[in-house]
Amino acid sequence: MASATALIVGGGVIGLSTAYHLTRRGFGRVVVLEKDALGAGSSRRAAGIITGHLWSETGVRARKIALALYRELSEELPGYRFRDVGCLNLFDPASWPERAALLPLYDRWAVPYAVLDAQEMRSCWPALNPPAEMIGLFDPLGGYSEPDEYIPALVRRLRELGVELHSGQQVRDFILRGGRVVGVQVDDGHTARTLEADAVVCTTHAWMNLSLAGAARQVPVKAFVHQRYVTPPLPAAVDLPAINANPYGGYVRPAAGKRILAGAETAQRAEFRVPSFDFHMDALEVAPQVADDLRATLAPLLPVLATTTWVSRQVGLICFSMDGEPILGGLDGLPGLWIGCAFHSGGFAYNPVAGLLLAQLVAGETPALDIAAFSPNRFAASATAGYLATTVTQEHAVRRRH
Ligand SMILES: Cc1cc2nc3c(=O)[nH]c(=O)nc-3n(C[C@H](O)[C@H](O)[C@H](O)COP(=O)(O)OP(=O)(O)OC[C@H]3O[C@@H](n4cnc5c(N)ncnc54)[C@H](O)[C@@H]3O)c2cc1C
Repeated sequence: MASATALIVGGGVIGLSTAYHLTRRGFGRVVVLEKDALGAGSSRRAAGIITGHLWSETGVRARKIALALYRELSEELPGYRFRDVGCLNLFDPASWPERAALLPLYDRWAVPYAVLDAQEMRSCWPALNPPAEMIGLFDPLGGYSEPDEYIPALVRRLRELGVELHSGQQVRDFILRGGRVVGVQVDDGHTARTLEADAVVCTTHAWMNLSLAGAARQVPVKAFVHQRYVTPPLPAAVDLPAINANPYGGYVRPAAGKRILAGAETAQRAEFRVPSFDFHMDALEVAPQVADDLRATLAPLLPVLATTTWVSRQVGLICFSMDGEPILGGLDGLPGLWIGCAFHSGGFAYNPVAGLLLAQLVAGETPALDIAAFSPNRFAASATAGYLATTVTQEHAVRRRH
């Protein structure tokens, strides 16, 4: 494959990771085409939390690989370090039985965990004040990455590896020849041109259905506005794991400089339909009340939040497929094109393994695990059309956290 060319459309973490793994296996020429700046979509807005405690066998196995790769990348990427603080997934008595039923799956795949009661959580992390009935599922391998460290470090490594990284390049359409995708039409704002390739990988996240429209394909994916906030430096660093606080409708983790980062789900907000390729996530708006509500909701769990405020905010889009699982692979009847999207609120967590799997497919290798459950071809066209014709709120989409 040394003389082959791969074009990757979308320079978020999924596209960048695909470029990394393709180059690592000596694919040939690897080109990333990003319409804005690299990472300017959801990737640089993420909280970067990862846990291995997912809901399906494919998800659990994929995350196991992602967690191992994050640790390898910590060694390989100067300026980046995976924060291995663990991840605490919280449950109330109503939500626990569904998760408890997944523990045999974690045992089968040797995914470590510890079930903690409220008293045990308080003694591990004295800043936390969970109510007596709360159950904690601690993932000792989980943690988080700072997007502002990870993305620049990965970009530097890609340049060293010879990947051609182009920002300000909007891909308008795929070029089809004999039923095969053989390249893209790209516009830099001044000139339109065509680029031919042996493989095209589309990782355009919330723009995916706009990308696929020219090839008369769609995937059943909904996008939702999502937001996270950071406090000013606190008097002292707070010892915390990354916490998926689902009973509180949000999550919280430590952040650089003695800060705390927290994210809020806006359950009643309707899906967001990306209007055009020109749409930029900076245009997304959030009611100021969301920030106040988040602090009020999380303060009983983490009392230090009652005495501080938020000084910065990031707003972006998270994308969910109809069945909640990611969409990753080639499209039946459309050779030459591979796609990766719908990683729910866990695309940052997935990126090292999503890039690996996409690179393996493009290079003609057997993927590291059976990814039939992620196949883009698992949805009937009629079901996709029906799903896209509806409008749903976040609470009615299949919900997945990190
Ligand atoms: C506030 C917030 C918090 C989050 N927290 C977490 C978390 O804690 N853990 C976690 O795992 N995930 C989290 N996520 C989700 C995560 O950010 C996403 O799942 C992930 O970044 C998706 O990566 P991506 O590369 O697919 O998308 P993006 O980063 O959006 O990249 C897609 C890129 O494609 C480009 N593009 C689109 N159309 C074109 C075109 N026609 N031509 C060229 N380029 C194009 C876009 O400009 C964009 O840069 C969070 C998201 C948000 C918004």
